[in-house]
Amino acid sequence: PNNSEEVINEYDEEALMGMGSEPVVIANPEACKDCKNPTCETACPLGAIARDELGRPSIDKNKCANDGYCINACEFGALAEKSQFVPLIKMLRQNTHKVYASVAPAFAGQFGANVTAGQLRSSLLKLGFYEVVETALYADLITIKEAFEYDEHVKDDEHDFLITSCCCPIWIKLIENKFPDLAGHISPSVSPMIASGRVIKELEPDAKVVFIGPCVAKKSEAQLPDLKGAIDFVLTFQELSTIFEAANINPADEPDEENAVASWGGRVYGRTGGVSAAVGTTLEKLIPRRAEKFVPVKADGIPDCTKLLDDIRTGKLAANFIEGMACKGGCVGGPGRIIPPEQGTV
Ligand code: SF4
Repeated sequence: PNNSEEVINEYDEEALMGMGSEPVVIANPEACKDCKNPTCETACPLGAIARDELGRPSIDKNKCANDGYCINACEFGALAEKSQFVPLIKMLRQNTHKVYASVAPAFAGQFGANVTAGQLRSSLLKLGFYEVVETALYADLITIKEAFEYDEHVKDDEHDFLITSCCCPIWIKLIENKFPDLAGHISPSVSPMIASGRVIKELEPDAKVVFIGPCVAKKSEAQLPDLKGAIDFVLTFQELSTIFEAANINPADEPDEENAVASWGGRVYGRTGGVSAAVGTTLEKLIPRRAEKFVPVKADGIPDCTKLLDDIRTGKLAANFIEGMACKGGCVGGPGRIIPPEQGTV
């Protein structure tokens, strides 16, 4: 195949994109108005939406990657993500556990143009969270780990390469399911979300951890058998915004009480190219002899990621650090965002 669409079609038959865990995108055909503009079918790059005889959508669970692209394409709610906010609110109200929030770097601007990390923290504490951490801090830790993995794994700068595992679960599934011959190059690091849950629970074994971000696929990642247990609930920014509204909390009115300790490197993970920039900068500082020949390449959107991987596989592209994000622009373009990707200011 010589273009990404053909690459995707070639594998459609093989039903390979299922995440191997509970589906988190669900169809509600009763809500469908058969609008066709824009259709949920065209929003799904994997061909996972089918129509029944009445034109209503259903999801082929074997093809669905839980990316959630289709959710924003339907203004009538005929496609939606499974939400966990009822059990979460119960837990916060019953005060049975210390509940931590791990907030993704793409939060900037989502709850109001000038809402700071400190105001978001105050808002979450008001809801009943015990403490709030930035997932970007754990992205910082994973960046350092990936810089050392690059040093160890890429022996021949021209031909070897490392594929980052930070932080898009769809990117990893795309490789494992459609490019298994490249899977040996994937960094063994977990995503910053999983790292945040594991570190918090190492320090506080009875704590519960809620990841809050723009991503629907993270709901699925948190349930994967080898990662399960690190994160208890995943909320999108849209879901959190609904909870704030119901609780009459406006983050813009809350005090700015920041406790952030993440760096620039962790915060730029929210945009495509952020991981490469962070690892490149870390190499310059920690292993400068490897920084000179560090050649990153990045792609976003499933079709472009597919094309990039195909080019790497066929040797058309010379690069030794490969980054892919399933959403256009990176996580700032995730389906659970509140503002358009171009306004995301990580
Ligand atoms: Fe989720 Fe970000 Fe990947 Fe989109 S790019 S699927 S928001 S991790």
